Amino acid sequence: MEDLEKLIPVTKTFVPPIEEYTSQIKRAFDKGWLTNRGALTIELEEKLKDYLEVPHINLMANGTLPLQIALKLLGGNSEVITTPFSYVATTSAIVWENCTPVFVDIHPEYLTIDESKIEAAITKNTTCILATHVFGNPCDVEEINRIAKKHNLNVIYDAAHCFGVRYKDKSIFEYGDISTISFHATKLFHTGEGGALFASDFNLQHKSYYSHNFGHNGAENYFGVGINAKMSELQAAMGLTVLPYINEIQKARNKVVDYYIDKLNWNSLDRIKIRNGTEWNYSYFPVIFKSEEVLLEVVNVLNNEGVFPRRYFYPSLNNLQFVENCLMVNSDSISSRILCLPLYVGLNKVSQDSIIKLINNIINSYSC
Ligand SMILES: *Cc1c(COP(=O)(O)O)cnc(C)c1O
Repeated sequence: MEDLEKLIPVTKTFVPPIEEYTSQIKRAFDKGWLTNRGALTIELEEKLKDYLEVPHINLMANGTLPLQIALKLLGGNSEVITTPFSYVATTSAIVWENCTPVFVDIHPEYLTIDESKIEAAITKNTTCILATHVFGNPCDVEEINRIAKKHNLNVIYDAAHCFGVRYKDKSIFEYGDISTISFHATKLFHTGEGGALFASDFNLQHKSYYSHNFGHNGAENYFGVGINAKMSELQAAMGLTVLPYINEIQKARNKVVDYYIDKLNWNSLDRIKIRNGTEWNYSYFPVIFKSEEVLLEVVNVLNNEGVFPRRYFYPSLNNLQFVENCLMVNSDSISSRILCLPLYVGLNKVSQDSIIKLINNIINSYSC
């Protein structure tokens, strides 16, 4: 077995110094208060509101529960127009909430839902559009907003990849009725497990807030049905420990991405087109090969060298066994050819050079 230290995965969790985590945790221990919106959770909410420049945030236990809560509030057990190119949680949350996913294909360059195909998918049963700002690349939020207004639909964005992303000088989380994010250990900013919901108006803030806390209205009354989606103090402690490093994390990742952009052979390779007006967060580095055959060879060669990129996102979600399958020409094609390359704080140049050399060699051999 190879030395695990030497293996290069697609990402590595940013692990802060344990003493710093311990000193945050100690605050919770000293109070004997480990969950139920204690001082650490509230402090993290305030700090994230400042950092992200958003008027409202509700921290939760992971990034899937806020999707479920959003769909519970806005999906109406009916048809939800969605993207086939995302993590499985986007579709499974729709099915879990007794809604029906209606897939609309993606734009072949932006990789976000193709807004020009949304209207054709709307029926009298459509309640909602749930789209993903995939890899932190914003959907066409203006056009989606126009369509939603015209047809009286709600808009939810799965913004799991969007920590720090801004579009047209405001936070991406301010677009749509509800946006959700994940703070899973593999995401750019993390709390181990964790997530949050951003609601656009007070009414939705109120509903999502009580929904995430069993529906409570005080100790003995209830506003409505709810679930337990609360972030714990242990998670918030991790968030408060990681947050001071966020600029360092961002800088280190930018450097890795810029180096890939500089050195890979783009004559035989494509990359995601970031929408104009976006301050991107370099959260993933996907590359798109000419064919699945090339991708499979690249994966094979890299694996043999101890490098483990990931096929994000594969399969295209319209092919899941628990949805009605349909053809999605762009998403099916992109899914079969896209690969996320290793990207994390601490990925050194020597490793990156060897990854780049192996990929360039293979794609060059296919192009002649
Ligand atoms: C990570 C992710 C989720 C789920 O978030 P968790 O915190 O793991 O529950 C949902 N959607 C997308 C697009 C993701 O990448």
